[in-house]
Amino acid sequence: MYRPTFAIVDTGAIRNNVRAIRSLLQPQTRLLTAVKANGYGHGAQAAAIAALTGGATDLGVASVEEALELRAAGITAPILVLGVTSAAGILAAAEQNIAVTVGGPEGVQETAGMTWTTQDAATGKRLQAAVHLKVDTGMSRLGVRGVEAAVDLARRIDSSPRLQLAGVFTHLACSDEPDLCHTEAQVARFRTVVAAIEAAGIAPGVVHAANSAATLRRPDWHFDMVRVGISAYGYGSAEGFESPVALQPGLHLYGCITRVATLEVGDTVSYGASFTASRRMRVATLPVGYADGYFRTLSNRASVIVHNRRAPVVGRVCMDQLMVDVSDIPNVRRGDCATLYGRYAPPEWTANAMDSRANGALEQWLGATFTARAGASVLSLDELAAHAGTISYEMMCALSPRVPRTVLPL
Ligand SMILES: *Cc1c(COP(=O)(O)O)cnc(C)c1O
Repeated sequence: MYRPTFAIVDTGAIRNNVRAIRSLLQPQTRLLTAVKANGYGHGAQAAAIAALTGGATDLGVASVEEALELRAAGITAPILVLGVTSAAGILAAAEQNIAVTVGGPEGVQETAGMTWTTQDAATGKRLQAAVHLKVDTGMSRLGVRGVEAAVDLARRIDSSPRLQLAGVFTHLACSDEPDLCHTEAQVARFRTVVAAIEAAGIAPGVVHAANSAATLRRPDWHFDMVRVGISAYGYGSAEGFESPVALQPGLHLYGCITRVATLEVGDTVSYGASFTASRRMRVATLPVGYADGYFRTLSNRASVIVHNRRAPVVGRVCMDQLMVDVSDIPNVRRGDCATLYGRYAPPEWTANAMDSRANGALEQWLGATFTARAGASVLSLDELAAHAGTISYEMMCALSPRVPRTVLPL
């Protein structure tokens, strides 16, 4: 590591979170963990393995490409593509035993017109794609709208030689809000659709609706499967959301101080000189910027942790660096490790200590020293997200591929 900026992916935390969520479910209820968008920034493969170890039965991704990556990594668990898939994509998915989402008659018509020469190697039968029918009950994003249209689509899928109706689902727009009025209405519409499909003599397969917030709040909305993302990674879906089970963050970001400077009254910091020293102060530079996923909107708002104390971000966050005020923190030196988010860095983490270790040994040492501090305080992504005017989801996804991730072994 030549630039002392790195993330820790705590796979044990993901596993424990999934296990805790699992404990809220009926034993027969399936638990899909969303590992789309590179596992919410944690790494799709590591997140998937951690989730499956914690009791997840299924994985959710956004595209067939993401699903194929998991298959290529040797993951054999059921995968559902939650986004829209082209007809060619449905075939590619079927070949790898990946289920897809269909939200309108277009997908069914296109696959009907395709020649599928592929046969199942084991049975010799022509491949069928497992399809989950998406119902739009109030998100207005994806899915069939209205009871009759849903039943009609279920019938088309059911009677298509290419497709097999494996599930019916919807997505909730407001399940993390204090008032569940909108969500109650969505679930009621969903129940009506599922009942109508059943009344038409079609087996709906796996019925599912709940995301993290709905899963944690409403056991009566679990149906046959729940789909959790953010809670598996240790956060509530909204700031202040109270989880009934303890959740631990999976993602932690650190940088070692590259310079400490003394500023005089009137000196300014960073682009645009948006911060002016009103006293003599000490300012530390960190090798982390918005290109790493630390948003520019955090300029002059957020703080980082140095020596277990808060150091406010001063001036604008640059592409690759940012500055923090360490005036009130004694003995801050170049090389000391700062916590951008997640568990406070252990005191032994310094640039020197890291430089003295070869890559493999470094990862092991980081993992051991991190794990030894299991009870340490956490700088929450919810706090940063609030400063940045966004949600923890976006901050996780924004962690750049250029930041080396130390993935702790399970
Ligand atoms: C991402 C996703 C989820 C998970 O949502 P969280 O709020 O992260 O729990 C559930 N369902 C669908 C359709 C999704 O795309």
